[in-house]
Amino acid sequence: MSLLPRGDATAHDDGSALAIQHFPLTLTGRRMLAPSVAHLTFEHGDGQPVAFLPGQFVQIHFQYADGTATKRSYSLATIHAPDAPPGTAVEVAVSYVPGGAATALFEGLAIGDRVDASGPFGRFCLMPQDSNRRYLLIGTGTGVTPYRAMLPLLERQIAERGIEVVLLFGARTPDELLYGDEFRAFAEAHPAFRFVPCFSRELPAPGSAHDHPDVRHGYVQQFLAEFAPQAEGDIAYLCGNPNMVDACFEALKDHGLPVPQIRREKYVSSK
Ligand SMILES: Cc1cc2nc3c(=O)[nH]c(=O)nc-3n(C[C@H](O)[C@H](O)[C@H](O)COP(=O)(O)OP(=O)(O)OC[C@H]3O[C@@H](n4cnc5c(N)ncnc54)[C@H](O)[C@@H]3O)c2cc1C
Repeated sequence: MSLLPRGDATAHDDGSALAIQHFPLTLTGRRMLAPSVAHLTFEHGDGQPVAFLPGQFVQIHFQYADGTATKRSYSLATIHAPDAPPGTAVEVAVSYVPGGAATALFEGLAIGDRVDASGPFGRFCLMPQDSNRRYLLIGTGTGVTPYRAMLPLLERQIAERGIEVVLLFGARTPDELLYGDEFRAFAEAHPAFRFVPCFSRELPAPGSAHDHPDVRHGYVQQFLAEFAPQAEGDIAYLCGNPNMVDACFEALKDHGLPVPQIRREKYVSSK
């Protein structure tokens, strides 16, 4: 990798480490995934590779109107072949929050504009030493993004270790089912992967795009019991809304999952 490390590194349980970099990102694409969620594609501003592990996040650095420096975190949505050299693209899904400082920054960005970034950060990753039989992946809103980035690794583990995967994705309405088509297509192609969208407010109309026997009506935590989480064989990942993460964490412990088998990433707001 040709990027020069600057100081710190994110350590991983397998002993590997990726150097944390500071780098410019140039916006190259934007499409709306939902009425208030944008999929943004950036390229490294100097054409350099951006190495990351699926599940990690980057930070975007900017200033408030009064000049005070601040930053926000965004999980990487980029799909990258596990054995390929790092690419130059950085993809994120950004939920636009009314009055949000980073929201204003992203909404105002034009194609070709640059932002300052750093990363990769975080340990919310699939671990090479895992010997579980099943992953329970649970997310709400943009908290599903890390699981998109994990798809190539999950595909490999399904093929090599025969694991099963259940993705429980909480959204209010079918309009807000981020990457729903991609997850459904992956599930169709991989019978060991179940995609279970849980809609809290509105179900897909019969025969419409996201209508499927695996769709559920309610919050993700209401459907954990259906999948009978067990200490023997299950590792769970929880990502997104902090209330959902806390509720599922308690529920999974009640099902007997030891805390080390419950991995969490909370999308807490920066102050
Ligand atoms: C590890 C990590 C990864 C993250 N990954 C992502 C990601 O992939 N995509 C993503 O969109 N966000 C992600 N977040 C959250 C993100 O960093 C920002 O907090 C979010 O984008 C809001 O920033 P903002 O500057 O627009 O709003 P702020 O200026 O921080 O907040 C403005 C107001 O909106 C409220 N608010 C903030 N977030 C929300 C929300 N989600 N819903 C309702 N009200 C809110 C705040 O409490 C505040 O009152 C992540 C957070 C962490 C810690």
